[in-house]
Amino acid sequence: MLADVPKALTEKIIQYAKMPQTGVSLRQMVEFGQRPNQGTLLKASQFVYDELPIRLAHRVIELDTIPELNKSPSVIRVKNWYLESFNVPPKLKDLVDSNIMPDQEQSQTTMNNMFKNSEKRYFYPTKNIDYPLEASEYNKSFVKLITSIKKRHDAVVTTVAQGVKEYKRMGSLNVIDHKVQKFLDRFYLSRIGIRMLIGQHVKLNNPSRDKDYVGIICTRTKLSSVIQEAIENASYICQDYYFLSSPPKVELHCPPGLEFMYVPSHLHHVVFELIKNSLRATVELYEEDADEFPPIKVIVAEGKEDITIKISDEGGGISRSNLNNVWTYMYTTADTPDLEDTFDKSDFKAPMAGLGYGLPLSRLYARYFGGDIKIISMENYGTDAYIHLNRISGSEEPLG
Ligand code: ADP
Ligand code: MG
Repeated sequence: MLADVPKALTEKIIQYAKMPQTGVSLRQMVEFGQRPNQGTLLKASQFVYDELPIRLAHRVIELDTIPELNKSPSVIRVKNWYLESFNVPPKLKDLVDSNIMPDQEQSQTTMNNMFKNSEKRYFYPTKNIDYPLEASEYNKSFVKLITSIKKRHDAVVTTVAQGVKEYKRMGSLNVIDHKVQKFLDRFYLSRIGIRMLIGQHVKLNNPSRDKDYVGIICTRTKLSSVIQEAIENASYICQDYYFLSSPPKVELHCPPGLEFMYVPSHLHHVVFELIKNSLRATVELYEEDADEFPPIKVIVAEGKEDITIKISDEGGGISRSNLNNVWTYMYTTADTPDLEDTFDKSDFKAPMAGLGYGLPLSRLYARYFGGDIKIISMENYGTDAYIHLNRISGSEEPLG
């Protein structure tokens, strides 16, 4: 039973945590998002309105019951954020529950009808629908609500990482155990999903002028530009961190003009993390004052099913016995910088290395849309990292 939580709220959370979460695929989000009107947006908000508390309730229960980790003060803080977000302000609820259009009772399209009479509980509409006048009013307040929820959870990655540190200290552990690893995978994956759902809904309500964008999804994500930007950002951080006159070169081989449907910020995050790892391995093997470094090669291949990005370095590789560890949260061979300094307040911002979050989080981003990351290493030579990104984009969110 949840400590310090009113009984009624506890019961409601337990009830919601029993309901299954409903995944949405990239394709569904894009199909829905083409020029929605206020009515379509209202319907979509119903989906988010129904789905969000379910996902949040699942997390509350897990945060409350994960052995040992649930005792860490930071994890309790995070649980309270989830509780707060679960507890939607009654005002907005009233808007949905009450009969707000008394003088238009004849009309089929009242807010009340729209929210009560959907054939399917989870319904992501694909065509424009009629709507009552209040729709745009409601949409605005709903966007405000979920924006504030997203903001409340900005520091979740930092705070849970802090919690894992506390937990490791409590149990004097070197690496976290399998159960905690699985929990963190589920937890962070769920966070990616919740933020995607909110981010997408908010952006659909305030669309950008760029016609290639549907919410935060770019239907024509240009691989070479996103990868090039990630290379530049990683190289800059590397040069700065090691005081190099010039960082190792990164060669990009990408079919010109290759584009696909994706969330550019996710792609950037993944490539950026992997390039940073390759740069670090290369610089540390050859040492900072080397005259020259072997280049890192980035090769992009366009398949029918996948787009694969291979990142190859000659940074000495990883021993086979260590290869499993690299996917473990907080496993790192770098000195850990102070958590408070290295995490940006607004979201997770990684430094050069040292948190041990780069690989596991990147893999979650890849898996979220049906892709994956694999690492093959030649000990004493170098590492190849393969990022597989699903082109079909019809795979549903993995929700654990
Ligand atoms: P961090 O970079 O913060 O240490 P990561 O999750 O990105 O965390 O990587 C975990 C560990 O995996 C690194 O500390 C390093 O020991 C190893 N590693 C990752 N990529 C490479 C690579 N390309 N070459 C050699 N070792 C690597
Ligand atoms: Mg890293």
